[in-house]
Amino acid sequence: MTLNVLLRQGQVAFLALGLIGFGMAAVQAEEASLDRPIEKVLEPIQLTDRVHYFYGSLENRTPTNLGFTNNTGFVVTDEGVVLIDSGPSYQVAQRMEKAIAGVTDKPITHVISVGSQDHRWLGNGYFHEQGAELVALQRTASTQADRGEGQIASLANSVGEEAMEGTQPVPAPNPIDADEYTLTVGGVDFELIYAGDAHFPGDIMVHLPGEDVVFTGDIVYTERMLGIHPFSNPVEKLEAFRHLESIDPDIVVPGHGRATDMAEARQDTGDYLELLVREVTAGIEDWESLGEVVDRLADLEQFKHLRHYDDWHRPNVNRTYLFIEGNM
Ligand SMILES: [Zn+2]
Repeated sequence: MTLNVLLRQGQVAFLALGLIGFGMAAVQAEEASLDRPIEKVLEPIQLTDRVHYFYGSLENRTPTNLGFTNNTGFVVTDEGVVLIDSGPSYQVAQRMEKAIAGVTDKPITHVISVGSQDHRWLGNGYFHEQGAELVALQRTASTQADRGEGQIASLANSVGEEAMEGTQPVPAPNPIDADEYTLTVGGVDFELIYAGDAHFPGDIMVHLPGEDVVFTGDIVYTERMLGIHPFSNPVEKLEAFRHLESIDPDIVVPGHGRATDMAEARQDTGDYLELLVREVTAGIEDWESLGEVVDRLADLEQFKHLRHYDDWHRPNVNRTYLFIEGNM
C-alpha cells in the first residue's frame, strides 16, 4: 500500500470522524432547542384578538419543562378569562396565572378540560382554589377521576417530587352529562364537542365559532408523531378528526405542536390515522401477523419528518393492530 493511499485512508477516517462529531453536535443542539424550558413555554402566543395559547415543549416530560409538553390556551372574554386546560401541576398553574396577568387584568373565571392526560388537567386544583369554575363533560371528568393519583405519581418521577408538591387530582365537581354543550362567557361561545374516544377515553375538542378556532386536544398532533396507547382508540380518533374537518376552522390549536391550519393537521394526523386504520385492517383481513404488519408499515417516508417517529411509529402500528383485532 502506498503512502499516498494510507494518507487518503487516514484523511477519509479523519473526515468521517469529523462529520460524525459535527453531526452529533448538531443533533444535540437541535434537541436542546426542542426541549423548551418552562419559562419559554409560559410566553403566551396570540392567535386572534381574544385567543392565546401556550406552546408546549415537543420533548418528553423533564425537570426543565415541568411536564408542560402539550398546548393549553386562554380566551379573554368581556367578563373574564376562560382557560382551555390547566397544565401539569399546581405550581405550573400558578405560573400560568401570572403569565396570563401579563396579557389581561381580567380574572380567570372558567377552566375547560379537553382531555384527561396529566398535563391537561392537574393544574385544576389551583384554579379551583382561586374560585374558577371547572367545566368538563362527564366522560372526561370520569377518566380524570380514575387516573389522577397514578398520573401524579408518574409525573413526579419525570419532573421531580418537589415540582409536584401541592398537586391534587381535582376533576370538575359538576360535570356535564352530554356529548355536546355550549358554554357562553362574556359574549364568547365555547362549544364542547365529544366526537369519539381518542388519545384517552372522553377526549373532546372546543370550538369557538366566533373566532374560527378549534382547540383539538389530543385529537390532533402536529410536528411530532402522535402516540397510540393501549387505552387509546385509533378508530374513533380518526372519526373525531373527520368531525373536525367538517367544522373546518381557520385556526387549529393541536394538543401538541404549533398552532396551524387544517392542511397541516390533515398531513400530520389525519393522513397518518387514515393510513394506519386502512392498512392494519387490510392486513388483519389478509391473515397477516402482527409482526408482518409492523414490518410492512415500518418505513413511511411521508411521516418521517415528525419528531419521535422512531420511538412511536412501530408501537402505534402494533397497538392499532391489537385494537382492531380485539374489536372485530
Ligand atoms: Zn397529549
